[in-house]
Amino acid sequence: MILIDGKKAAAELREELKKEVLQLKSKYNTVPGLTVILIGELAPSKIYVKNKEKSAIEVGLKSEVIRYPETVDEKTVLNKIKELNNDASVSGILVQLPLPKHINKQKVIETILPSKDVDGFHPMNVGNLSSGYESSVPCTPLGCYLLIKKIEPNLNGKKAVVVGRSNLNGKPMTQLLLKENCTVTITHSKTKDLKGECLKGDIIIAAVGIPELVKGDWVKKDTIVIDVGINKTEKGIVGDVAFEEVSKVAKAITPVPGGVGPMTIACLLKNTIECFKRIQK
Ligand code: NAP
Repeated sequence: MILIDGKKAAAELREELKKEVLQLKSKYNTVPGLTVILIGELAPSKIYVKNKEKSAIEVGLKSEVIRYPETVDEKTVLNKIKELNNDASVSGILVQLPLPKHINKQKVIETILPSKDVDGFHPMNVGNLSSGYESSVPCTPLGCYLLIKKIEPNLNGKKAVVVGRSNLNGKPMTQLLLKENCTVTITHSKTKDLKGECLKGDIIIAAVGIPELVKGDWVKKDTIVIDVGINKTEKGIVGDVAFEEVSKVAKAITPVPGGVGPMTIACLLKNTIECFKRIQK
């Protein structure tokens, strides 16, 4: 069984990105810039933003965090996004979610210029991804995809089962796997026989939010299992996959923590660099 080391893969990706930033700097005499907007005082959001800022600086990007109190009005945020859209030193804009209730998430997402949408949430990027065109891809599924490709570079004809159909994870994951010629089944809370569906998968990606939902006898031998879930339980943080059981049958599996999580931020940096390159083009 291969334990997929997300920390190591993320560190390797950051090293590659660091080199790329240096090359871009010598070519364009400037570096890609990531601007994050953080609204309110939610502890997990503050931690995520701090980690994003630290990683961005580590690879040599220009990094900026704009902080607003929970009470900030929607217009102020939208105006700031428009200002950043017009700022040539900003390659990527990310508004940390969740937002306070009085701020319309969709309006915020649609105000970000698609070419600076490092999260890949803008409808134009969602459409481009599903049409197979160049686009920003949401960071977590992109990280999962890169981990899968490390284990199995040729995914032609593989049967993939995606558990969960969120816009953040399940749907973009499905599009990435389709692009690689997988036969993809996307499952959700109304799926009749989830175990039966999982048993058909050469690859299973679980992005649900239910601790240890995917059991050992749901997985056939030699399956690659990617666990996106982050669930706080009495025994600590666990994924959506029953790790102990599944690791006995799977060909390869991501641990939680230390699997998909570290790749998410590394992919945000990758997306910022991709946005910069597309703007230069
Ligand atoms: P979400 O928006 O709540 O979506 C959950 C999906 O799971 C939905 O499509 C839902 O189906 C499906 N589902 C719920 N119960 C199910 C069941 N019993 N059987 C099959 N499917 C079921 O969640 P998300 O944002 O995608 O996040 C999923 C998990 O990933 C969470 O634990 C989250 O914390 C974690 N996460 C991790 C990272 C990372 O960097 N590692 C990033 C983002 C999220 P319906 O559509 O029918 O409701």
